[in-house]
Order: sequence, then C-alpha cells, then structure tokens
Amino acid sequence: MNMNERIAAWNAEAQQCTCGHDHRLVQMQVFLEHGAIRRLPGYLSEQGYNHVTVVYDGQTGPAAGYEVVKSLQDAGLIADEFQMPENSAGDIIADEAAIVQVLLGVKQMTQAIIAVGSGTIHDLVRFVCAKMNKPFLSVPTAASVDGFTSAGAPLIVSGIKQTFQAVPPRAIFADIDITQQAPQAMTAAGFGDMLGKYTSLADWIVSRDLGGEPFCPVAYRMTEEALTACIENVQAIAEGSAEGITALMDALIISGASMLIIDHSRPASGGEHHISHRWEMNLMVAGRKPVLHGAKVGVACVLLTERYKELASLSREPVFDVYATLPDASQLTAWLKQVGGPTTTDQLGVTPDMVEHAFATAHTLRERYTGLKYINESLNVV
Ligand SMILES: [Zn+2]
Ligand SMILES: [Zn+2]
Repeated sequence: MNMNERIAAWNAEAQQCTCGHDHRLVQMQVFLEHGAIRRLPGYLSEQGYNHVTVVYDGQTGPAAGYEVVKSLQDAGLIADEFQMPENSAGDIIADEAAIVQVLLGVKQMTQAIIAVGSGTIHDLVRFVCAKMNKPFLSVPTAASVDGFTSAGAPLIVSGIKQTFQAVPPRAIFADIDITQQAPQAMTAAGFGDMLGKYTSLADWIVSRDLGGEPFCPVAYRMTEEALTACIENVQAIAEGSAEGITALMDALIISGASMLIIDHSRPASGGEHHISHRWEMNLMVAGRKPVLHGAKVGVACVLLTERYKELASLSREPVFDVYATLPDASQLTAWLKQVGGPTTTDQLGVTPDMVEHAFATAHTLRERYTGLKYINESLNVV
C-alpha cells in the first residue's frame, strides 16, 4: 500500500472508532518519493492555482526553494518567492516578529503558500495560511520533525512556547533526493522526535488510566507502528541511505497524521516534549543558539525514561507498569548515538539547573496528565 492508501485505511478505521474523540478525515495528498517536487506544477494546475508564493530561508532556498520556484515559473505559473530573513544571531525563531514578516511577504492575490524548509518555516506558514485562509502546501527539506503534517503551529508568543491550531497541508511533497542531502544532525533530530514516542505513548496510557483522559486506540496504533518502523530501520537511518530516510520520513508523516486524526498532539507529545519546550524557552532567555526540536526531545526521552522506570519500581500502583516496559535508557542512548544525535544535556547546552527546573515545572506547561505531573504533584504527598 502506498502512503495515500494507508492514510485512507487509517481514516476508515478512525471513522468507526468509538473512543469519544471526534475523528477528522485526513485529506492530505502525500508524495513521498524521489523527485517528488516535480509533481508540484501538475498538482497546482489540477487544483486550478496559477499564482502561488514559495517561502524558504537562507538554507532551504538553495536546498530546494529556488528549484521549486523555477519549475513553477517554467510551467507558466506565477510563483512569488519570499526568503525569511534571519535574526541578528543568524537564526529563525517562530515568534510574533517572524509571523509578521511572512504576512508582509505574501501578496493577497496568491492562491496558495508553499513552505520549503524544516519545522520552523512550516509552522510560520501554516499559521499564516490559517489566518489568510489560503491552502498550505509542504515541501520538507529534512526528515527532522513530525510536525509537517500536523495542524498545530508551535510558536513562541510573549516568550512562551504555545501550540496554536492552524491548518494541515493539503499536500506534502517529500522529495527523498532533497531530504537525503540534509545534514545528518537534522535526520538524527527526526529520529529523536520519533524516539520520544516511547514516553509520549506510555504517558497517554497513564493519562487514560489515571487521569481519565480521552484515548484513541487508532491514533495510538498509528504512532506505535511508526515508532516500530523507525527502530527497525535504525541502521539505514544512521547511514542516511535513501531507504533509511524514506522510512524515517514515512514515520514522521504518519506520526503527524495521528495528531491530525484526533486533533490533539497527545499520541506524539508527552512529558518529554514538555521538558523540551521548557529547555527551548530557557535557552532562548539565556541567549543561547536554538537547538533542533528532535535533538532536545531525544535527550529528554532518555532522562524521563530513567525517572519513569524508577517510578514504576518504587510505586506499587499497577497504572505505572507501562513505564517498566520502556526500553532501557542505555538502549535509547545507544540508538541516538548510532544515528549521530546528541545524547546528553551538556551537548545541547542545557545546564544542570535547566534540567532540574524542567523536571520540576514542565508538567505545568500543558493541561495533560503525565507521569511527570504525578511525580511532581502526587508522589511527595503519598
Ligand atoms: Zn515533536
Ligand atoms: Zn478514536
């Protein structure tokens, strides 16, 4: 089954699901193949669009953006282009200022906006598309994050990282020839984001059993299968082969779709993501360079797994048994190392103080029951 058939099968299952969630029909066309961007002109003509805007940055323009613009113009389409400016430190942060820059870079008459880049460009464009009521199209330049296909836009507003509901892409053109050229650090970050599903899925079980929170078995299995596929392909991902990058991108797209189908990030984001968000804000306040999302999530997953295993063995509550089934922290570390990602907070520039602060407060960032919340709010009083 190709990706579109698999998504259709998940949709069919979700429509039958009686878990209590509303299940969105995921109507996104996925092109995951060599040369996927060559399908763009045909796709746009089919949709009746002849004027689009392509948004990229200083890195993703040369990687794919210029080529996308040229192929659209060669096909007789009007393709405006907008290069996101970097801040004085040479970074692009998904914050208020960046949102306004994208808004200013897009003409009102454009019929669709194409994001060419990694997570940050996508989050800015999906938010602007939601506000301007324009279709959002995705061209990932790295298999670095599972957010390409989600609807949520994590943005930093007033210094606080929050996820805003925006729009998912109508279509994603995941060109393996492009994503395979991405630096290995970005591929490793995508793997780290997937590794974090170990703790996010375990947290979801706990939040169901302890917090009585909604639980969708279909979305759970989507994420679980995507995680398993990543682990099975860890060697190919480490080598950066076309097969490995395809497997990783496939998993990231499905993980994003699992959030889309229930309109909630629960399957793909648990305590490890809350810790990562806290570190991101701390690093920003400390004036440090931003660290790739998945790199933080991978390391947070290792540390959180240690705490969760401790919780499972100390507590006599069967509800925490699921944490005992997590892979050992040493195994998680070995996988991260194998794909070339950071394995310690030190490598992320995260100080011991930031680690302590995150473990003590990250659970307050989201209204969600996790083992982390339990450790902080209940364990001390038991
Ligand atoms: Zn993530
Ligand atoms: Zn369901």
